[in-house]
Amino acid sequence: MKAIGVDLGGTHVLAAVIEDDGSIRSKHEIDVEERSFEHVMELLETAISGALADAGSNVIGIGIGSPGNIDAQTGTIRYSPNFGDTWKGAPLGARLHQRFGIPVFVGNDARCATLGEYTYGVGRGTKDFVLITLGTGIGGGVVADGNLVLGAAMGAGEIGHHQIRPTDGFVCGCGKIGCFEAQASGTGLIRHATALVSSFPRSMLLAGAPMDLGSKRIRKAAQAGDQHAVAAWKNYISDLALGVANIVAFLNPELIALGGGVSKAEEFLLDAVRPRVDDLVTMAPRGSTRISIAQFENDAGALGAAAMAMRGGLRTGKVA
Ligand SMILES: [Zn+2]
Repeated sequence: MKAIGVDLGGTHVLAAVIEDDGSIRSKHEIDVEERSFEHVMELLETAISGALADAGSNVIGIGIGSPGNIDAQTGTIRYSPNFGDTWKGAPLGARLHQRFGIPVFVGNDARCATLGEYTYGVGRGTKDFVLITLGTGIGGGVVADGNLVLGAAMGAGEIGHHQIRPTDGFVCGCGKIGCFEAQASGTGLIRHATALVSSFPRSMLLAGAPMDLGSKRIRKAAQAGDQHAVAAWKNYISDLALGVANIVAFLNPELIALGGGVSKAEEFLLDAVRPRVDDLVTMAPRGSTRISIAQFENDAGALGAAAMAMRGGLRTGKVA
């Protein structure tokens, strides 16, 4: 059995042929330069056609991980703020089913990535698992007692938008103040560094052009001991731990996996965040939730989308 797993992101489309053991047979990637629904549909059709040609026969279906809130029954995008108004009510699943004539399943991209890590990656073998991706924003998802948690209207798992600093935090893309995403995403790390600029006027971080101040650069400078970066990293870790500890209080999962760009700091990140979380968790037995780094860098979404197609959708009971 195999399926086409598609990860639809803000900057690129990836369609992969994925076997039921999670091995990736081939990949078709296209950059997204314009995000209108009709344009992205063309890119999707090209990438999926390429993957289907590689796959040959016995393709069970196509799974798409898309940003936004999605009606799983119809594969329609209810809304997708990052992709704009042309995606409101966009019949993504129906259009692709019409075009390719095989079953198409559409799920939220972050839920798909969670399913990918749970089925094939670091979450394998657990029953209670949370993925947190620390990228431009914070994506994630929750598996509780072996079920991917979806909520009444596919809105569960939006962990990036629980507020951790509602009075003194940064403004989030969603409009609220101090969301976990605003404070602890890769973008959040940049905000922490920017907020400290006046205290470090001769910081090496400020030597380049302002637009070059990326989270990767700050992270590497912190690892190298740069004072400005170390101070920003400290504030960042404090906020990240706050959000992670809240998740432990809500769910006490066996494992919380950190993915996305910031997670490339690996032990440097884990060694800082674990003791802070321990300090903040008061009711769950200490150490009962492990924190580790996610397994897949960029393929989790496509793997989970393929797993969704093989399972016949996200809402089908046990995933294990
Ligand atoms: Zn928010």
